Amino acid sequence: MRAIDPAVGAIAAAAASCESLDTLADVVRGCVACAELASLRTSVVVGDFPATARLLLVGEGPGANEDVAGRPFVGKGGQLLDSLLAEAGLDRAHVAVANVVKCRPPGNRTPTPAEARRCTGWLDRQLALCAPSLVVTLGLSALRWASGSGIRLRDVRGVVREWRGTRLLPTYHPSAALRFGPAGEPMAMLRADLRTAAAELS
Ligand code: SF4
Repeated sequence: MRAIDPAVGAIAAAAASCESLDTLADVVRGCVACAELASLRTSVVVGDFPATARLLLVGEGPGANEDVAGRPFVGKGGQLLDSLLAEAGLDRAHVAVANVVKCRPPGNRTPTPAEARRCTGWLDRQLALCAPSLVVTLGLSALRWASGSGIRLRDVRGVVREWRGTRLLPTYHPSAALRFGPAGEPMAMLRADLRTAAAELS
């Protein structure tokens, strides 16, 4: 049986007490619940939440560039994401972007289940305060935040469904699109799914 992690409940309670995204951002920046990540980070990458956002993109966690910049998706994956959003007619300036974990896992490793469980309290509250019309999860970690651990991306990607009072559209992470290259399936699927997102919002 999994041991109870008191940080999960503490973060959920702290997040619930935040009445705005700005207040939550200030509180998250002081979070040290994951000792390893907190000790190694340059910044807490809280996320971008423009007031005009109707679309929320959720990725896995900050990489090296994001850790330095303090913003999500600013490296090569972010540049690809911006260009595919623009192709679909979506302006990143009006798109909310956040990650499952707000602090960079060392060596860009996948966040541990314990880290993801803790940080989910912040992300869940961001979702509630942002109240987007559509959530697009990028990659498996974000899909698991939304849908639990037993699900496969290939079974649900590209399909929009009702979810937590909004709609959910799972797709690939830009890093997978970069890894498999311009002719790879993840690139084609990510491109198609962002077009689906734009159509859902039109
Ligand atoms: S990853 Fe999330 S829960 Fe862990 S220390 Fe950073 S902000 Fe806190």
